[in-house]
Amino acid sequence: MKKAFVLFLAVSGMISLALGCAFASEEAHGGHHAAASSVTPADAMKMIVDGNNDFVTHHAAEYFKEYATAQHPFVTMITCSDARVHPTVFNADPVDHVFVIRNVGNQIQNSCGSIDYGIYHLHTPVLLIIGHTHCGAVKAAMGNYINESPCIINELNGLHLPLEHDNGQGTFEERWLLNVERNVDYQVNFCIKKYADLVKSGKLAVVGTVYDFIDAYGQGKGRLVITNINGITDPAMIKQDPHMSMVSDQLKNTIVTRKTKGM
Ligand SMILES: [Zn+2]
Repeated sequence: MKKAFVLFLAVSGMISLALGCAFASEEAHGGHHAAASSVTPADAMKMIVDGNNDFVTHHAAEYFKEYATAQHPFVTMITCSDARVHPTVFNADPVDHVFVIRNVGNQIQNSCGSIDYGIYHLHTPVLLIIGHTHCGAVKAAMGNYINESPCIINELNGLHLPLEHDNGQGTFEERWLLNVERNVDYQVNFCIKKYADLVKSGKLAVVGTVYDFIDAYGQGKGRLVITNINGITDPAMIKQDPHMSMVSDQLKNTIVTRKTKGM
């Protein structure tokens, strides 16, 4: 990957944090706003402008030619807005390759027009739903968020249905991860109904994943664990699914796993 692009992404991540991804920063720093609070708007603006200037400097005009008139993504991706989660976890250069939609808790209904665009207009063959470990949105939805802004409350309310299957057993940390999986399952189930014709005709695969940066699944930090393909949640069946036919057995055994039984 181009060094400048990595830098650009790193700066983007810092800016996201600086601009107040409260859920992410709170959980990452034990409830205290650490690094983000020391970055002033002027600091952030310098990072943005310098970062973009570096990007321009390191990309020749040729680089932009391919997508000057149209975009060509191979995947529509919806993930949480969390600054720790980016398409670079599965694609080194997502520019022109990944159609990205983000909101707190990676919820379809909160951005359904954008997702429709990726599916109906850009015709991406995969709709990739990415939940993640230590998701602040899921954590917030598991507790009392009445003091949040009306807009945040409105978005978090959408997580109530996925979390209905939480039986309250186990440690908070265990329940938290299970609820992340449940939320991904919920979003996948919603999409396979919504895009039923495309899924049935084999033109679209709806894939549920959890990005694991704490090694909760024991498959290594940074692993994009596959938990659901078109509603199939049994790992043994996912491994045999035709959509996985090009993936090596070794990788299948690493990336296909889950904690819950699925809905
Ligand atoms: Zn999140």
